[in-house]
Amino acid sequence: MSHSHAGLPTDPALLAKAHVPDADILGVASMLSEPERARLAQLHDVLQTRVRPVVGEYWDREELPFELLPLLAEHGLGELEFSGASRLFRGLAYAEVTRADVSLSALVGIHNELVVDLINQLGSEEQKSTWLPGLRRFDKVGCFALTEPEHGSDIAGGLALSAERTASGWVLNGAKRWIGGATFADFAIVFARDVADGQVKGFVVELDQPGIKRTKIARKMGLRIMQNADLVFTDVEVPEGALIPGAESFAATNEMLRNSRAWVGWQAAGIQLAMFDRAREIALKREQFGKPIAAFQLVQEQLTRILGNATATLSMMASIARLQEEGGFDMPHAALVKATGTRLARESAQLARAIGGGNGILTEHEVSKLLGDAEILYTYEGTYEINSLIVGRAVTGISAFV
Ligand SMILES: Cc1cc2nc3c(=O)[nH]c(=O)nc-3n(C[C@H](O)[C@H](O)[C@H](O)COP(=O)(O)OP(=O)(O)OC[C@H]3O[C@@H](n4cnc5c(N)ncnc54)[C@H](O)[C@@H]3O)c2cc1C
Repeated sequence: MSHSHAGLPTDPALLAKAHVPDADILGVASMLSEPERARLAQLHDVLQTRVRPVVGEYWDREELPFELLPLLAEHGLGELEFSGASRLFRGLAYAEVTRADVSLSALVGIHNELVVDLINQLGSEEQKSTWLPGLRRFDKVGCFALTEPEHGSDIAGGLALSAERTASGWVLNGAKRWIGGATFADFAIVFARDVADGQVKGFVVELDQPGIKRTKIARKMGLRIMQNADLVFTDVEVPEGALIPGAESFAATNEMLRNSRAWVGWQAAGIQLAMFDRAREIALKREQFGKPIAAFQLVQEQLTRILGNATATLSMMASIARLQEEGGFDMPHAALVKATGTRLARESAQLARAIGGGNGILTEHEVSKLLGDAEILYTYEGTYEINSLIVGRAVTGISAFV
């Protein structure tokens, strides 16, 4: 059995010896078709053996392991939209990537739900033929630039980056903040307000051009592998063909945000599976008072609480996948599971970290890495509070925030 420095287990053989079930204790994955179940099991193995063991050091250094992108592409994670996968498979795949690393799951989720889907569903034929082939293989990477330094929660009404039509296209001026992948992405989907009609419109903007300044946001407490950036646009000229035809108002983009919010719900499920995996391993291995701490009643209650939170989140998400397939999936559904899943993930993170004791504050044991990452899930794709207000508006008929 291999051990990390402080003697906590890193080998699944320990779990096999203990004859304990997988964290998906109600068998949500068993609702998949047989081929998808096999595909998910293979993905799980690859992520646990080739991704999870290597990402910790990258997280510490705030670097992205670019060499893993071909591996993710090899397993179809660059083109979920085109694979014919069920919504449940797609979600469980996001959860499995998250179970191995939350930052890489952010990259995979933004790529599929916001970049590839948006270009595929709302883009022009030229945008599709220019970008989709490379995106599907992760040879090209795009990012989604909505949030601004002065506008986060109020972005829909407050968005300030301007787009002004010229004789040959558009000129963009303004700034974006927190944009995931923007330090290295080939292009950004930039949302800008048309000065002529006041509408928010989406543009495909190649990032390597004059007038665009990108600055990495360093010293994050979570999602440290994902490279977030500040972007400043100064008189950036883009051709007419940069305008995304289907994104000429914010309503279409909102459709995308509904799906991406659900993707964060899957992340909340996956991160809690990881928390349970790590907390149980630690509890079985670490001995105090002459026995594994897993033998203590209080520790068993803590493990049960993490497993219960993970199971509740996973089960909610399975219902979302059903709604996405059958129709009737609306923004309040997405907001409810995003808010609830990330709230539970925060509690699970604290419990898992505490089970680690002193060692649990070291990122090498992953529980503190997961604690930091859980904070990001709680805040991005609409904060917990904003998503709660979206649900509140739907269930009372009263808007408390606009
Ligand atoms: C690591 C990371 C990655 C991200 N990636 C991307 C990305 O790729 N692309 C992108 O466009 N954006 C991205 N974001 C931005 C993210 O979506 C915003 O951070 C989020 O929407 C919140 O905006 P804000 O940070 O400006 O907080 P603010 O809007 O300033 O909110 C601050 C606090 O005030 C609360 N608040 C605000 N208004 C209300 C209200 N009416 N009622 C009650 N409470 C309220 C909020 O809930 C929050 O607690 C990312 C953020 C992070 C941290």
